[in-house]
Amino acid sequence: MIIKSNIKDLQAELQGTNARLIAVSKTQPIEKIKEAYDAGQRIFGENKAQEMTAKFQALPQDIEWHMIGHLQTNKVKYIASFVSLIHSIDSLKLLEEINKQGKKVDRVIPCLLQVHIASEETKFGFDQREIVSLITNPALPLFKNIRIIGLMGMSTFTEDESTIRKEFKSLKKFFNDMAEHTLPENMEMKELSMGMSSDYKIALEEGSTYVRIGTAIFGSRNYSTP
Ligand SMILES: *Cc1c(COP(=O)(O)O)cnc(C)c1O
Repeated sequence: MIIKSNIKDLQAELQGTNARLIAVSKTQPIEKIKEAYDAGQRIFGENKAQEMTAKFQALPQDIEWHMIGHLQTNKVKYIASFVSLIHSIDSLKLLEEINKQGKKVDRVIPCLLQVHIASEETKFGFDQREIVSLITNPALPLFKNIRIIGLMGMSTFTEDESTIRKEFKSLKKFFNDMAEHTLPENMEMKELSMGMSSDYKIALEEGSTYVRIGTAIFGSRNYSTP
């Protein structure tokens, strides 16, 4: 019951904003996901390809599955046929592999470029400078089976709201700047994925279009994830 009311509360909170809710269901069992589904939730986020594939097979087909975690190139083949959006693009090599697998299943796979905004060293992603050079990379327009539709970022793990807000603000500004650039044909700046359980309110104020929320819906996870 608590999952259902968490979903309803969050959906109500998102009313009137530009953002959609991704229920981050990594490590959560099928029954809990079903509960969220029954509350009307249709977008779920996972961070492991095989786990996402198993859940895709076990759950209703009208669910949108979003890959939010670091994706290894050798795992792309498991999800290429059904994934709705990959948030965690952090290399040209990964884009190349997604393009290859997308071609095999005759799909154009939507992707977001992950931008490194946190002060921690451990988080994956491109620096802003790397993205600016990526958009002029002649290889990019050749990838007909991917479409880059925006950016994703994760803030520093801190209680300090002003740090988090500063990072989200800078990502939004970069997003706006990128939208002004001449972009390759298979790229546009439409979606900005930022905000998790602890910082989604700030992310919404700073212009997020996708919030990725796990523990505030499902409670704590049973085991830690990378
Ligand atoms: C786990 C995860 C989330 C959700 O985190 P919560 O704190 O449980 O809301 C969001 N984004 C990414 C990339 C994650 O790995």
